[in-house]
Amino acid sequence: MKGKIINDQCKKCGIAIKTTHYRKNQTYCQRCRKKAHNASVRKWRRKVLEKKIKESQGQKRDIGFPTNINYYKPFYKVENGYGYEGVLLCDNKTGEVQCHICGGWFHWLQNHIRGTHKLSADEYRKQFKLNWTTALCSEKVREQLVRRAMTYPWERLKKNGEKLVRMSKNGKNRNSKWRERNHQTLEGKNKLGLCSLQIIERLIRISKKLGRQPYTHEMIGDRGTNIRGAIIRNFGSVAEVRRILAMQGYVYQSRYGRKTFTDQQLLGSLKKFAEVYKRRPSYSDIARGILYSKSTYEKRFGSWRKAKELAFASNNI
Ligand SMILES: [Zn+2]
Ligand SMILES: [Zn+2]
Repeated sequence: MKGKIINDQCKKCGIAIKTTHYRKNQTYCQRCRKKAHNASVRKWRRKVLEKKIKESQGQKRDIGFPTNINYYKPFYKVENGYGYEGVLLCDNKTGEVQCHICGGWFHWLQNHIRGTHKLSADEYRKQFKLNWTTALCSEKVREQLVRRAMTYPWERLKKNGEKLVRMSKNGKNRNSKWRERNHQTLEGKNKLGLCSLQIIERLIRISKKLGRQPYTHEMIGDRGTNIRGAIIRNFGSVAEVRRILAMQGYVYQSRYGRKTFTDQQLLGSLKKFAEVYKRRPSYSDIARGILYSKSTYEKRFGSWRKAKELAFASNNI
């Protein structure tokens, strides 16, 4: 059956098209038809994906880490998400890795992130504090990618590659981008056992063994090296860590005991000051670090004024 061809309009966008007389007022133009088709395909794909994710969330899994990666416990948990910050979790049986956002398990995580969560791989790594070089895929896929790269005809890329190199050399943000990438990430710390949680856990273990807080030379990390530098990088100072350990009930005993000054030392320093400067010391001289602290004089002699009276009793300065 072939109808008579007439002029008509697209039902959606109103563009002029040609159609048969018996399909009048119910035809779409080619563009609108394609759009509708693509939308339906996308909807179907999303449905399949959601079903897959739901299935994978319910399954019990043998959770481990990707091969050749050693993380030191404990880790920070991801807020409003799955897994831990700076850690890529992996199924020991199938080798799939877990998405931090939806908790699904995938062989090719990078594809899933781009499609479902609309994030680039670098953005994802930044959000969950992973290393810039961590492969977001299972070991199986990584093996495939490496093998494909080895047999790729690079001549084909050469022309485009030269153009890309020129572009990146001209780019202004090139240096800042690489500087950012060279920063140590949380995953890097997890691999060395030097994230703040791991340091505290380690120090508590040492304190338990010693029955007191460790001295700085006794602060040895999981890898057998001194972690004083890492402590300062993470907490700002060793004293900050000592405060946390004290809250756990471990006291700090100085190796040298408390320093006590004799009365002669304290008053002698005042007299010496007067000899050099030809006047009595004032509080601002203490602030400059020339004399002992004000509280030392106050505790010993009652007050700063009384200490000065004692020191200069026989002098006229
Ligand atoms: Zn149309
Ligand atoms: Zn996801």
